[in-house]
Amino acid sequence: MSARPKKSFGQHFLHERRYIERIVSAISPRPDDFIVEIGPGEGALTFPLLAAAGKLTAIELDTDLIPSLQANAAAIGELSIVHADVLKVDFTAMAHRHGVSQLRIAGNLPYYISSPILFHCVDHAAAITDMHFMLQKEVVDRMAAEPGSKVYGRLSVMLQLACRVVPLFDVPPGAFRPPPKVDSSVVRLVPLAAHERHDASPERVHAVVKAAFAQRRKTLGNALRQLMDADAIRRADVDPKARAETLAPEDFVRLAKVNVDQHL
Ligand code: SAM
Repeated sequence: MSARPKKSFGQHFLHERRYIERIVSAISPRPDDFIVEIGPGEGALTFPLLAAAGKLTAIELDTDLIPSLQANAAAIGELSIVHADVLKVDFTAMAHRHGVSQLRIAGNLPYYISSPILFHCVDHAAAITDMHFMLQKEVVDRMAAEPGSKVYGRLSVMLQLACRVVPLFDVPPGAFRPPPKVDSSVVRLVPLAAHERHDASPERVHAVVKAAFAQRRKTLGNALRQLMDADAIRRADVDPKARAETLAPEDFVRLAKVNVDQHL
């Protein structure tokens, strides 16, 4: 235990018991859950989750942490450790392989790749019941932001089109070893049910949202010029003079679905 935390792996180990308990109680693991933890580290969340669920799959990139995780878990439950970069793990295939329809995902995420991990999980949202993540507070604020807010942007729209975003509570730097330079927050993400999900092409939604927020201060007419003209924007029931930060997530879906070849 207590190896020197590695900066290159984004290692900040949670040690304050009351935050560990709050996270585990927010997750509320049940014995039949298939829980996947991203980045177990020294096991701060792993062992209490394992005790409640009886079994757990953990994905860890740092080989040095694996032997003691394995040894300490033996008396608690069935811990299966996948030594991999989480961005390369196919959650949908993992669920199929284990004969479960959905996974529950949790983790105190490495902050240096938190956005790629979020987008990766969203790509597998249909195979996920819920996610509980510790992230930088600033990232959680962006994920949950509403139109008109200064921090509303690409992350807010892409996350909210796929999940219900529920910020839970903040965690101060002193709860970790070593303390990170930023405040942290725990968030719950619940993927939308099939009938709530949009039916636009995910690639097109992504392209529209990316272009719209690439130059926040431009009007949509200008920002989306490479993708569609002002008439197409109007056909999506959006004002070409508006700015991206004033649009609701569903407005971007209509923009992604509008037929750009149509000439009226
Ligand atoms: N869960 C532990 C805790 O709360 O104390 C550790 C959290 S620490 C912030 C992030 C963990 O993610 C570390 O154990 C780190 O080695 C692991 N990690 C970093 N990059 C990873 C990656 N690409 N895939 C899987 N795990 C990764």
